[in-house]
Order: sequence, then C-alpha cells, then structure tokens
Amino acid sequence: MKSLRMAKRHLPKFLESLGKWGKVYVPVKLGKNSYRWEEFDGEVDNIALDALRTVIPAKKFFYKPREVMFEYDKTNGYTQACAECEEDVILFGIHSCGIHSLETLDNIFAGKYVDNYYFTRRKNITIVGTSCMPDKHCFCKSMGADTVDEGYDIFLTDLGDDFLIGVGSSKGDDIVNDNPDIYEEVDESTTKRYLEFRNKRDESFELVLDTSDLPTILDFQYDNPLWDELGERCLACGSCSMVCPTCYCYNVDDTINLDSETGERWREWDCCLFRDHALVAGGHNFRENQGGRLKHRYLHKQQAYLGDFGRTACVGCGRCIVACPANIDYVECLKAMRGEMTSA
Ligand code: SF4
Ligand code: SF4
Repeated sequence: MKSLRMAKRHLPKFLESLGKWGKVYVPVKLGKNSYRWEEFDGEVDNIALDALRTVIPAKKFFYKPREVMFEYDKTNGYTQACAECEEDVILFGIHSCGIHSLETLDNIFAGKYVDNYYFTRRKNITIVGTSCMPDKHCFCKSMGADTVDEGYDIFLTDLGDDFLIGVGSSKGDDIVNDNPDIYEEVDESTTKRYLEFRNKRDESFELVLDTSDLPTILDFQYDNPLWDELGERCLACGSCSMVCPTCYCYNVDDTINLDSETGERWREWDCCLFRDHALVAGGHNFRENQGGRLKHRYLHKQQAYLGDFGRTACVGCGRCIVACPANIDYVECLKAMRGEMTSA
C-alpha cells in the first residue's frame, strides 16, 4: 500500500480530478444531524466532511431500492435491464464501517447464484473513503469495522491541515498519478499526527458491545421473554433494515402488461420485520409474531452470518439505533441478552 500526504487546500483539485473517473457522489447535509448522498455540485463547502452516517447507506448505489431486472416479450424472450449498471461512479466520503459493509454484501451476492446486477456496479464504482470520529451511536470498534486495510481505491485520513492519502488499488494509483503535483511524501510529522489521530479516535468510542460468546449466549436466550416485549413495541416499519448497510433481503415480482405478452420482472428491498416476509403460499407464516421476527434479525446478524462467513453481519454504524421510531436499541438489546442490562 502506498501512502502520501495532501494539503487540504488541494481538495478541490483532487475532487475535480476524481470527476475523470465517473460521476462523483458525496455526503451532504439534509437537516439537523441527517445526511444523504448527492451528486457533487462542484462546491467543496457543500460536502459534509463531518457526516458520520447518511440516512440511507452506500448500498443503494450497488443494490437499488427498486429496480427492473429484465423485460420480457412472449415472442422475443427477455432483455436484461440495468442500463445504469455500467455507469462509472465515485463514492467520496464512505467510512471504514461502510467499506466493511460492502464486503459483507459481497459474500451474499457472490453466493450460489452470483448477482450480476450488484457485481457489475461493484466493478464500476470507485471507493474513496474518509476517516471519521465516532459519536455516541457508533460501535464499529466492537464489530472490528473501525479500521480498514483494503476494499478502497483511496482513503483520506484527516490530519488537520493535511490528509493522509492511502492508495489501495491500481485505480487509486492512476488517480494520484493523474495529479502528482498535489501530493507529497509522508514525513515524520505526518506519522506523528496519524498516530495522534488514531489514539484520539480509539479513545472516543463511548458505545462498546462485548461480542465474545455472543452466538452461544443468543442460543441460550432463544426463549427469553424480552424478544416478545420488544416485538410488542416494534411497529414493523422496516426502518432498521432499510437504513442498515448490510441488510440485503429483497422481494421479486412480475408485472404483466394487459396484452399478456410482455412485462417486466422487478425487485425491491424487503425486510424480515415485515409481517408478510415469511408468509408462503397457503397462508402459513414461518414467523408469526413480531418478537420472533425481531429475534430473527438479531440472530441472523450475530449468529447465522457469522457461521457462514466468519464475521458478523453488523458493522456497528448505529443507523438502526438512530432510525427506530420505537427506540429499540440494537446494542442495549444485545447487552440485555448478555445479562449486562435489565431492559432494552
Ligand atoms: S445492525 Fe444496525 S448498527 Fe449494525 S450495521 Fe445494521 S444498521 Fe448498522
Ligand atoms: S425500526 Fe424499530 S420499530 Fe421499525 S421495524 Fe425496526 S425495530 Fe421495529
């Protein structure tokens, strides 16, 4: 990995150069403490460099909330849609937890049936990560997602007057080589400031979740009445899943035109907390009550995915905690299951 230093005054030039590799998207402020991804308008001051979490995470660029998968015609067969899959996109401002979340999705979409929609976009999207300072809802450190050594093309760490530039891919190398005069070698002061940044960040985490033995503890707590108590509070709104960078469930359906000859197949984000998610033909629902549905989400993230891929399907971004209108707190719930708290 190559490391360089770039003075902050060069950020406009850096962003201008990124534009050569595709359409640049950045986090912008939406309202008090809320942010969203928007196409870069050329004004560096409009970028919310301090944004910790956009409401909807970067997964929406790789896996659309709703998309037509293909159109079909009784005479001519089907035509795969997804024209914009081939579009070159640059995501500037994704944090370490977001980069880990993409690796989580990669495992799923590379499964038994490789998802070409996802991977075509994955290939065409350049990742420019930026460092962050945690707030009270961040627990990425507990989930091993607070730092990142791969999975990005370029990573910028804020060192005050400079950025430390980590180059993580050959595309990243091309980007820095396009504008060599804005970069300098890493010097002793850069190293010192980087270590100070790392220590300060490490010490800033207020929220800690002990994940040791958690899969076993969740087994033991399978019948804990707290699941049903939380289910009573849950509104089944699905916000926790929609904002989660690692939730990936989708529903597939066909729309057949009135000519009965043509139509389209589409898919859209789904959520295991929706009442109908486990409803099958014949009217049987594999998860009848809301407490069971909520338990499924937690067990899937902290147990089932871990068993399949060796890591949990939670990166500790805190989005579900912030988004839940019923104040159901992911960390508090798991702490309660560990016996660390009496309620969640
Ligand atoms: S479960 Fe919650 S904290 Fe974990 S990745 Fe999803 S939204 Fe973030
Ligand atoms: S955001 Fe909260 S209320 Fe809505 S489905 Fe998730 S846990 Fe239930």
